[in-house]
Amino acid sequence: MNRFDYVRPATVADAVQAAAGHVGARFIAGGTNLVDLMKYNVERPTRLVDLNRLPELRTITETGGGLRIGALVTNSQLAYDDRVEQRYPLLSRAILSGATAQLRNAASTGGNLLQRTRCYYFYDPATPCNKRDPRSGCGAIGGVNRIHAILGASPACIATHPSDMCVALAALEATVHVAGPGGERRIAFAEFHRLPGDTPERDTNLEPGEIVLAVELPQRGFPERYTYLKLRDRLSYAFALVSVAVALEMNAGQVTTARIALGGVAHKPWRVPDAEAALEGKPAGRDGFERAAELILAGAQGHDGNAFKIELARRAVLRALSQAAAGTPQTVADKRVK
Ligand code: SF4
Repeated sequence: MNRFDYVRPATVADAVQAAAGHVGARFIAGGTNLVDLMKYNVERPTRLVDLNRLPELRTITETGGGLRIGALVTNSQLAYDDRVEQRYPLLSRAILSGATAQLRNAASTGGNLLQRTRCYYFYDPATPCNKRDPRSGCGAIGGVNRIHAILGASPACIATHPSDMCVALAALEATVHVAGPGGERRIAFAEFHRLPGDTPERDTNLEPGEIVLAVELPQRGFPERYTYLKLRDRLSYAFALVSVAVALEMNAGQVTTARIALGGVAHKPWRVPDAEAALEGKPAGRDGFERAAELILAGAQGHDGNAFKIELARRAVLRALSQAAAGTPQTVADKRVK
């Protein structure tokens, strides 16, 4: 057991101050990932800064047509919020496809963004892992890699980001509000998570000591035509092998706006603006959907255990686009194509 300090600040400024200068400090909210990592001896914080006494981070508020979601809003609170269900059903569907009811009741919005990969080797300190222990090697390359990345990976790391919520937030073009020793700033969602490159130990572009304060959703929520399609080894309590968030706007059978984000395939939610642009101004149909899938998966590379994901992802994109274009209401357990 590693010893650590525990502090419970009463303000955001105090929380930032509590972490400033402590290289081993970690912020904790729901603890649904960090506590596991501490038990596995993967994370060894010297100080835990508990954010749970910061009520201003627990609210969902209107912001000029959009919504600002405090970092401590739980996954359940967010998924079942009337405004989210009605205006951003893609986000609600994505959240409810992840974890279990108990975990969603505890897990926070900020923590969801910051959860670590579920790569088996990352959780096993007896194996090499560049993300856990930089320059030690990668057990997954040449090892068991069924759940690993097919896009955006590097010779240092082929891990995937495990979140469902983040895939929807990428498609919705959310903004992340953060605070740190340098003050407050906003980060576009596409810039929040990183590809592994040669620094896979860094999952995000947060600076040391920065706290996620909130996630802001823009006004456009795509409530009419959307889908979150999640493919996994069992129907509940499993991470995505491939997931696809699609949000469309259409007029007279033509796509006017398209957003597509994939989960389970890369170190961050995967978007290809060219694929979305290729759909816009064109009829919603099979030819366009196949072209979009081709663009999204350009450069995809599999390993021994996960090459199947390339074809799986292609089919998932086609199906998700078909569902969204048809305006098919989606539930987690009942996926249909009209
Ligand atoms: Fe570690 Fe990344 Fe390799 Fe997994 S894929 S063992 S997280 S370096």
